[in-house]
Amino acid sequence: MEAYLDHAATTPMRPEAVAAMLPFLTDRFGNPSGVHRVSRAARIALDEARDVAAACLGAEPGEIVFTGGGTEADNLAIAGVHAVIGGRVVCGATEHHAVLHACEALGGSTVAVDGDGLIDLDALADALDHDVSVVSVMLANNEVGTVQPLDAVAAVVRARAPRARLHTDAVQAFPWLDVAAIAAPADLVAVSAHKFGGPKGVGALVVRAGVHVAPLLHGGGQERGRRSGTHNVAGIVAMAAAMQATVETRAATVERVARLRDRLADGLLAVVPGAVETGARSGKVAGNCHLRFPDVESEALLLLLDAEGVCAAAGSACAAGAVDPSHVLTAMGLSGAEAASSMRFSLGVTTTDDEVDLALKTVPEAVARLRGA
Ligand code: PLP
Repeated sequence: MEAYLDHAATTPMRPEAVAAMLPFLTDRFGNPSGVHRVSRAARIALDEARDVAAACLGAEPGEIVFTGGGTEADNLAIAGVHAVIGGRVVCGATEHHAVLHACEALGGSTVAVDGDGLIDLDALADALDHDVSVVSVMLANNEVGTVQPLDAVAAVVRARAPRARLHTDAVQAFPWLDVAAIAAPADLVAVSAHKFGGPKGVGALVVRAGVHVAPLLHGGGQERGRRSGTHNVAGIVAMAAAMQATVETRAATVERVARLRDRLADGLLAVVPGAVETGARSGKVAGNCHLRFPDVESEALLLLLDAEGVCAAAGSACAAGAVDPSHVLTAMGLSGAEAASSMRFSLGVTTTDDEVDLALKTVPEAVARLRGA
């Protein structure tokens, strides 16, 4: 028995997505940029996938740029807009490194968050002026699951930095939130297929009509010159299938997974002495359970849990190998010791009651063992 509770790192591919991509790995192998029949078959599939992605993201087909994943989509949004209009770049302090480091590389600044991980709107207003060209605020955080009030963020940006383009990283939001509606105030929206049942290495950036991004990659001019390179047709088709399935089942998934998450979080808080939940649960996506267990090294806990078949994360998997405390938890006001005793259990579409039961049995035992009880 295994409990995979690391869906925020990546989630298994949906059967619909696997089935959708297989023909493009075999018979329908064409390069969609050509003119003959084999190319045309690939082009038709690419166009259909673009229509689906546009509908699922609340965009027009021409506003979709297919990318090699979430990191590339974030970088294209930030560096791409900055290359066109210059100026200053601003992002939230708890952004994923794909945004944070892209902003840092351009000399950008960060805006503080509160103890729940919500962006400080007054601090955001103070950071903005007519020189600001890009503001990036994520829809849902990858570590603690906090959902940002994008409407309020957009209102501040429009009032204080009228020249700025608003980018939102919706990579962690898409499985749980109606991104098509909620991200409507943003000029640019990034998603990544492997967080919602598509393959790794494919994503999309919505670039609204009238917003210009300079390409990161120069070459054949695909994606209307915004992202050169032969299309990953199989990956894109699979992403579209996963998007469609996610949107069609989202409401039911959120309800079911939130119930499992509550059972896990409440169960652990009830039985593990001193356990504390990070951030207000009501403000998180359904799949996030973030707890800290004082006097326990989360890295050691991870290994004990792994030996018992429970897969979780001590921080963001994308930052694996980093020894520093998580920048997200630090920005939320946690001390280094608190951050080092924090665990993320992230649930997904495939999570079952049996997996939650295994975690409810294993985590308290492992914590007690590490505390020498
Ligand atoms: N943004 C967020 C919020 C993420 O959680 C991740 C992945 O963990 C990314 C961006 C990067 O996406 P990708 O893994 O597709 O490059």
